[in-house]
Amino acid sequence: MSNQADIASTEPTIWLNRSVPGIKQSTVPTLSAVATEPSTECPECHAMTTNTALILNQNVCPECDHHLPMTARKRLEWFLDSVDKELGQEFNAGNPLQFVDSKPYPERMLEAQRKTGESEGLVVMSGKLKNLDIIACAFDFRFMGGSMGSVVGDRFVQAAEKALAERKPLVCFAASGGARMQEGLLSLMQMARTSAAIERLRLAGVPYVVILTNPVYGGVTASLAMLGDVHIAEPRAMIGFAGKRVIEQTVREVLDEPFQRAEFLLEKGTVDMVVHRHQLIDTTHRILAKLTKANAA
Ligand SMILES: [Zn+2]
Repeated sequence: MSNQADIASTEPTIWLNRSVPGIKQSTVPTLSAVATEPSTECPECHAMTTNTALILNQNVCPECDHHLPMTARKRLEWFLDSVDKELGQEFNAGNPLQFVDSKPYPERMLEAQRKTGESEGLVVMSGKLKNLDIIACAFDFRFMGGSMGSVVGDRFVQAAEKALAERKPLVCFAASGGARMQEGLLSLMQMARTSAAIERLRLAGVPYVVILTNPVYGGVTASLAMLGDVHIAEPRAMIGFAGKRVIEQTVREVLDEPFQRAEFLLEKGTVDMVVHRHQLIDTTHRILAKLTKANAA
């Protein structure tokens, strides 16, 4: 009896697995093929997601909704429906201070350029957001921490001037550690230059919207990132001037976890709204459409 039961349970499987000459075998991918597809680990929940699934979800973890970083170029290509042209590529950084830390500045620049495929830390494009003609720029945090040197300043000011001349709204995706120390005072000067360019936009009634992504700090927070008509932040983005550790050492107090998170800053009125990446295009378009209409009236 036990023998018969064994035959009944094992025989069909053996028969099905047997390859039959002339009959095509199933091509369902095996588990090992799926496992070898390049994947990324979510830094929040540690779930592994295939890179394809992550790209399709705009770099948002499908398990916990954590917003992973996006490169400047990918960001703009995703945000804009069509790109007219890229701006500001004629600007190149010099090395006026002959700055050397553990490496000479030009060597660091070359390294960053090789790593990111970008010539500098800010990418600017003109194009369409749905039916609106806009100028959009994005910081690339991989490029020396998205630091603002003279070329980033040049590109931003040029973008703002073009926005002013053509009366197109300006959108900036900020992600930066602050000023670029290798350019010393020239880097700090960009805070004043970019602020002055934004003031000209404000006087002319041309909308400027900032989208704060994780993280935004230092001189960028202290200038162009906090001077928008509207400040949108991505969920849980860290936004501040000095870092948590520096402030804790200064005030000699331990600061709570939500400190400098987008949601906390929304509560305190520093940012106007926290918007999920999946809703960013619609929300920004709605705001700009209202602002341009209001300004045109
Ligand atoms: Zn996750």
